[in-house]
Amino acid sequence: MTKGKKVAKYKYYKIEGDKVVRLRRFCPRCGPGVFLAEHLNRYSCGKCGYLEWKQPQKKEE
Ligand SMILES: [Zn+2]
Repeated sequence: MTKGKKVAKYKYYKIEGDKVVRLRRFCPRCGPGVFLAEHLNRYSCGKCGYLEWKQPQKKEE
């Protein structure tokens, strides 16, 4: 488990041609540099607790 130990920020970007596509969302509160953690159906910021749902919530529970 020593492979890929270095965590680089460009890991969260994908290059398409000459365009950079962002794979991760930034926290709108903390600003660029703070990524939202991706969960099954939502994104959350570990810094400020911001929460963003990927899709409209379904009332299935
Ligand atoms: Zn935040």
